[in-house]
Parts: sequence; structure tokens; C-alpha cells
Amino acid sequence: MGFPYICCMEILDILIIGGGPIGLNCALEAQKNNLSYRVIEKGTIVNSLYNYPLYMRFFSTAEKLEIAEIPFISTAPKPGRQEALEYYQGITRQRNININLYEKVEKVSKENEIFTIETSKGKYSAKNVIISTGFYDIPNLMNIPGEDLSKVRHYYTEPYPYAKQKIVVVGSSNSAVDAALETYRKGAEVTMIIRHSEISKSVKYWVKPDIENRIAEGSIAAHFNAELMEIKQHSVVFKDEKGELQEIENDFVLAMTGYLPDFDFLKNSGIELQGDCLNPLYHPETMETNVPNLYLAGVVCGGKDTHLWFIENSRIHAEMIVKNILSE
Ligand SMILES: Cc1cc2nc3c(=O)[nH]c(=O)nc-3n(C[C@H](O)[C@H](O)[C@H](O)COP(=O)(O)OP(=O)(O)OC[C@H]3O[C@@H](n4cnc5c(N)ncnc54)[C@H](O)[C@@H]3O)c2cc1C
Repeated sequence: MGFPYICCMEILDILIIGGGPIGLNCALEAQKNNLSYRVIEKGTIVNSLYNYPLYMRFFSTAEKLEIAEIPFISTAPKPGRQEALEYYQGITRQRNININLYEKVEKVSKENEIFTIETSKGKYSAKNVIISTGFYDIPNLMNIPGEDLSKVRHYYTEPYPYAKQKIVVVGSSNSAVDAALETYRKGAEVTMIIRHSEISKSVKYWVKPDIENRIAEGSIAAHFNAELMEIKQHSVVFKDEKGELQEIENDFVLAMTGYLPDFDFLKNSGIELQGDCLNPLYHPETMETNVPNLYLAGVVCGGKDTHLWFIENSRIHAEMIVKNILSE
């Protein structure tokens, strides 16, 4: 016997795909305006945050991560992952947000002004759909030989597995720098391979001097203007700034090369993707895409420009969308 297949006959005002901070904010805005809604989330509540590095600290202060003006009390000016999980999951419980978990949306189609949303567990109907699926599920691959070896990690969780190991960290953004510093402090021998000529300017202001000083004193090796070319079982090959190939011993590669939205899902839902960065087409004042009544919210809006949107500046999307829905 198969699992029970849910077929919801009710036509919702809004179906929200993705239960990240911004999807939850959209749910609260719908609730406030007495619209019927449901959030469908493929993992746990705020699944991306759940999968962040265990000891990460946000670059935003707590009040900038707040949704629906619900106070976010943190013991430090910049909250960590666990506090954020408590905050967003707590709101979901207290406000009784309608959310289905561990259910993946597979297809969105539209006929006679009504959307059909097909998921791993069932089928739903809605007048409006908000896609707030973020960008944390698909790593931005380097597409080099050996990237599929089990020693290559595109997600970093904690430093302890890497004690006394030879680690290569690829990248120079916040994730790369946090991974390099944490693993170095637990006894890893760390080499950073960085495509640019310096540590990224976006690195948290209180962390940047730390990594720059560790590199300057030689505790962490860093190759700037360099590119990883091949990963082997016990070594890696990279091109240095002179264009020469170097091979160094290696146990693990932490490829902190960023993540991408699910472009196939956006395209298959009918959303036009524009230019080299595959920026989805939407109206900046309403967040409505080229498909009428299909909206985008949160960091999924940026295409490959994943640095453009964060919780801080995309919290406003919920209000813009619901205002537009109510005006129709
Ligand atoms: C390490 C890290 C640190 C960050 N620090 C900050 C910070 O300090 N301040 C800040 O403002 N921003 C920060 N950001 C950026 C951004 O705020 C986060 O990415 C944030 O989680 C975005 O919220 P979101 O709701 O748009 O997307 P997400 O939180 O990614 O939520 C999307 C949800 O959709 C679900 N989903 C995806 N596809 C489907 C599907 N087909 N069906 C059902 N569910 C689906 C996912 O499981 C996920 O739960 C950080 C990002 C990272 C990676």
C-alpha cells in the first residue's frame, strides 16, 4: 500500500512554496489579512538555516532578521544559528502557521486562472502562488575532475572532522573564511585557493582582520588569483597566480563556492529568466512575475546574483505581494 495522497479541494488564496524566513513572513502577512494560505516546505521549518554551519553567526543584528515585527531577542548583537532556529520555529508554533513539512513542490501549472501545485505528497489549488525557495539547495559546482569524490564537501557544518587533516578551502567569502578559521583552530593544515586578489570585501567586519592576520603570519596558507584545477584522492592540483600548476597533498576539499536557485523549477513554472545571471522576471513593486498571480519572495529573486538579497532587505516582499493580491 502506498502513502496517502493528499488532494486538497479547497482553492486557497495563496500557496507559499518554501518555509524559510521569507516564506513564513508571507504566511504571517496572509494571516493578518484573513487570506487562506498554506506553506509547503520540503524539509523542516527554516530548513536552510537548519543546514547552516553549526557555529555560524549572522552578519545582521537580531532586529534586522525580525519578521512581522515580532521581537527577536538575542544574547549577542549578532545572533547565531540556534537562536535563529528558536526564533523562526517558535513563531511558527505560536502563530499557528499552516505549514506542511517534508513535502516537496514538484510542479506548478495554471489553467483558467487557478494554479495546480503538485507535490511529493499531493495536489493543491490556489489563486496565487508565492515562490520563496531561496538558493541553498544547489551548490555552485566548480565542474573540475574529482569534484564528485567523497572528500569534497560543498556544505561545511563544523570543524571537528578535519582535525590534523590537510584541508583546501576554495573561495574567500564569509562561508570560506569561517570554515578556514574554524578548521585551522582545531588543528587542520589549511590552504585557501582564492580566485580573486584579496579576501572578499563582504566578509564580516569583525572576522576580516582575523583571516588577514592569520594569512599574513603564515598560519593559514592562501593562494590569490589562483584556481583549483583537479582533485585527486590524496592531492589537489591548482593554477597559481603565475599560471603555473602546483600539486599539494590533500585530505579534504571544502568548496565554499556558493549556491544557486533552482532555475529549472522557476523555468518550468513559466518564469522568464534573463541575461547571463538568469535573473527571474518580476515587477519590482509587486514581486509578480511574468506569469500573472505567480510571485517571487526572498533571496530566490536574485538569480545567480545571490549576494543581492538577504533576510534584511527581502522582508518587505510579503507586504508588497499581499497588498497587490488584495488590490485585485
Ligand atoms: C551561511 C549564510 C549566512 C547568512 N547570513 C545572513 C545574515 O546574516 N543576514 C541576512 O539577512 N541574510 C543572511 N543570509 C542570506 C539569506 O538571508 C538566507 O539565505 C535566508 O535563509 C533567505 O531566506 P529565504 O526565506 O528567502 O530562503 P531560504 O531560507 O533558503 O528558504 C527557502 C526554503 O524553501 C525550501 N524549498 C526549496 N525548494 C522547495 C520545493 N521545491 N518545495 C518545497 N520547499 C522548498 C527550502 O527547504 C527552504 O527551507 C545568509 C545565508 C547563508 C547561506
